[in-house]
Amino acid sequence: MKENKKSTGFIISTASAVVSGIILMVIEPTRLFIIGMLSIFIKKAKYLFLFIWNYLISNHRINGFLLLLLICLSVLLTFLIVVALLEQRINKIRKTYIKDVFYNVNWRWNWNGGTITNLWCFCRNCDMEISYDDSSMNRYSHDTNPRIDLICDHCGRIVSSIPQNTKEYLIGVIEREIRRNVRIKEEEQKNKNIKKE
Ligand SMILES: [Zn+2]
Repeated sequence: MKENKKSTGFIISTASAVVSGIILMVIEPTRLFIIGMLSIFIKKAKYLFLFIWNYLISNHRINGFLLLLLICLSVLLTFLIVVALLEQRINKIRKTYIKDVFYNVNWRWNWNGGTITNLWCFCRNCDMEISYDDSSMNRYSHDTNPRIDLICDHCGRIVSSIPQNTKEYLIGVIEREIRRNVRIKEEEQKNKNIKKE
């Protein structure tokens, strides 16, 4: 067993010495090659830039079709850049428009692309999360004034009362209001851009 262990150890140490030798043989010349190429490039770079500069400031004959193609590509590229900038501004509106007041309570939400998420309301007085009671909208309710009450448990009062609304319907209304306001803001932004141009 001892003999076996000894020979295994010898094989491992020999193999690692050979492998490290090979690695050194490969790495060192590669390093020297890269350094050599870099120094040549730095020396030649000056001449390369001079060549490009001279090429740019001298006159050239150019094929008419190629010129037309270049002009078309430039126009297309400018158009794409303008569209991208406009979209960025519109997205900026969405990103920054994340709270508003509807029905006398603060509403907050997030944007996930064009979708409104985490929409809910908070008390304007103490910022407590609002609870609600729309039990009067239940079809078995005998309440003569069906509505949703928005309640602040911290202030201990009804902060808003909206007739003929359930929670789901109210959320839908608020989402539509938010989208309407986004459209108005986007329209204003577009008009501003047109005036600038
Ligand atoms: Zn409150």
